[in-house]
Amino acid sequence: MTQRIPPPAADDLTFPYPDPPPPGAVAAVAPGVLWLRMPLPFALDHINLWVLEDGDGWTLVDTGIATDATRALWDQVLAGPLAGRPVRRLICTHFHPDHMGLSGWLTRRLDVPLWAPLGEWAFGRQLAAMSDATFTSLCHALYRPAGCAPDDLALVETRGNVYRRRVTPHPYALTRLMDGQVLPIGAHDWRVVVGHGHAPEHAGLWCRDLGLLISGDQVLPRISPNVSVWPTEPTADPLSLFLDSLTRWRALLPDDLLVLPSHGLPFRGLHARLEVLSHHHDARLDETEAECRAAPLSAAAMLPRLFKRALDDHQFFFALGETLAHLHHLEARGRLRRIMGTDGVTRFAATG
Ligand SMILES: [Zn+2]
Repeated sequence: MTQRIPPPAADDLTFPYPDPPPPGAVAAVAPGVLWLRMPLPFALDHINLWVLEDGDGWTLVDTGIATDATRALWDQVLAGPLAGRPVRRLICTHFHPDHMGLSGWLTRRLDVPLWAPLGEWAFGRQLAAMSDATFTSLCHALYRPAGCAPDDLALVETRGNVYRRRVTPHPYALTRLMDGQVLPIGAHDWRVVVGHGHAPEHAGLWCRDLGLLISGDQVLPRISPNVSVWPTEPTADPLSLFLDSLTRWRALLPDDLLVLPSHGLPFRGLHARLEVLSHHHDARLDETEAECRAAPLSAAAMLPRLFKRALDDHQFFFALGETLAHLHHLEARGRLRRIMGTDGVTRFAATG
């Protein structure tokens, strides 16, 4: 185990806008930059969306999940605070259903193009097109060797392809966003800053003039963004990608930005937050390695050692994916090795 510098205090963050806008309303966080919230039917009960003044129109950033409640709130916002100016385009930061869930519905309803990274759009499209049976078989192929109990495997079957139920079919056409690209939106330039690990090709948007970063889920103020191995990419090491992105964003982005995250409140203290997230994973990795030193462990056996609170079904699969991400990262670093059991379960043993 290496000696590490203690992390900065989480309280290094400040929150200049403590009051989120009520449902169906917007709040300005900078000239021409509006904040709105949509409800989510999970423990994490909201998502922040952003609307940017774009000449005589608007650019929307992210959509909310595909529920009637979100659709009704969009109707209210479009007929209320956004009325009188046309929407010019929709930008989606990444494919997750709370961000891209209504991309099909909104782009058709408003007759506007979708702008997103190719990896996000393509991944979202292929996942939305997958049958319940195919998705279930991919889940079993990952979760059975991870040591999941029959009850958990049965739950996978009951849930099927939950992604498909939380989105409207995504548009077939895309305007592609790429890392480093600069988008003129209204009077300001916004630079695309791609991050990896939470999603394949997650787009953040940085406006130097306004001192703003739309961070999506790549950096959140109070929770650690989920970094998971998913059934569609079972051998992945997303945590290496995520940690590399934290380092890259720390080097690229100034510390004094107002960060507009998808969950929680706008905050200042970007560098402190990036360091806290990095330290959080370092500590989790040390913990995971230490647990495997006593005896080789499967992902399912490791999960309750890392996540000690009660988890609902939705959180269980996030936690399992995240546990696998830590195991795969340690294996890639040579700190763990995998042992294929005669029972078909993969366990991880410490090498040091
Ligand atoms: Zn996300």
